[in-house]
Amino acid sequence: MTLIDRDPLLLTPGPLTTTLRTKQAMLHDHGSWDQAFNHITSEVCRQLLDIVHGADSHVCVPLQGSGTFAVEAALGTLVPHDGKVLVPNQGAYCARILRILGVIGRTAVELPIAEDQSMEPAAIEAALVADPFITHVAVVHCETGAGILNPLADIARAVAAQGRGLIVDAMSTFGAIPIDARTMPFEALIAASGKCLEGVPGMGFVIARRSALEASAGNCHSLAMDLHDQWAYLRKTTQWRFTPPTHVVVALAEALRQFHEEGGQAARGARYAANCRGLVDGMAALGLRPFLRAGVQAPIIVTFHAPDHPEWDFRTFYAAVRERGFILYPGKLTQVETFRVGCIGALTPNDIDQVVHAIGATLRQLGLTASASNTARV
Ligand SMILES: *Cc1c(COP(=O)(O)O)cnc(C)c1O
Repeated sequence: MTLIDRDPLLLTPGPLTTTLRTKQAMLHDHGSWDQAFNHITSEVCRQLLDIVHGADSHVCVPLQGSGTFAVEAALGTLVPHDGKVLVPNQGAYCARILRILGVIGRTAVELPIAEDQSMEPAAIEAALVADPFITHVAVVHCETGAGILNPLADIARAVAAQGRGLIVDAMSTFGAIPIDARTMPFEALIAASGKCLEGVPGMGFVIARRSALEASAGNCHSLAMDLHDQWAYLRKTTQWRFTPPTHVVVALAEALRQFHEEGGQAARGARYAANCRGLVDGMAALGLRPFLRAGVQAPIIVTFHAPDHPEWDFRTFYAAVRERGFILYPGKLTQVETFRVGCIGALTPNDIDQVVHAIGATLRQLGLTASASNTARV
């Protein structure tokens, strides 16, 4: 048996560690017709819209499911059947957008980008100039696969300059990295309850430009994924279409209360940046290098090169770190052996110090330290 009787801390891209207050909010049952619950839904949506300053131009449509459900719903609802979508592809979540477009039968054009480079707005603009039939550009704000941050403001400007619609997967940045609908034009921005807002997983949401959503009736390939229908029903009845994830919604309301108490996006982003700095510095002292250069690293999740040691095995390493009370994440790169450590969730730099300590102790326990590896080679 283990003597650690707390939940393991989640150093992952989600689900994330949540506070006790957020978990306790789920100890109640709510009816989907009940006015009190529907008021919580509308209040949550109002706050989500405010976080990106979208109240004048956009609406927030919640959707049951994980983040990918909301990405698929946004693409299926806002891109018409004869639309064509440019997808800059630098990793796993960009590739998922391409896959969704294939499944729902929308034409996609891929713009390949190296997985350690951020997206270049000029390259996106050139692709749009070259192909006037492209109607939309779909980008990932932080490609969580490697942990790269993309220059959203400049991308939005370039796409708007060419008169196309921008759809942003901001799943792993919403609430932590500044996004401003007043200065970064987008048709839709997608995020979810269980990432930087530190709610529990189970609900996605789309911040959609009101005019684009109004014009999207009948586009969607699916009933359950139809954001226009979900929005129209919510407006008419104040209720979700189909059973709402009631516990997830009330947990998100409580998580948002703590988000504001902490100081909103600026404070949350600063805490994650401090976590990221502490992590990178602490790991450097253990001889572990990040995969990305600092200039493109988002303070969300860090990909590290695996120790250069013949005995390295992620599963063994993972299990030993988990024994110490911390859950790490595998790498998602195809070419190099890596693993990932998240900076997000209800974690402070103090927790990060403990994670680094546990990783160092595990490396020694498994004989994977740099000096052991040197000895092994001699
Ligand atoms: C987490 C995440 C998603 C959604 O993944 P789900 O497993 O469906 O929750 C989408 N895009 C990005 C960039 C993410 O980090």
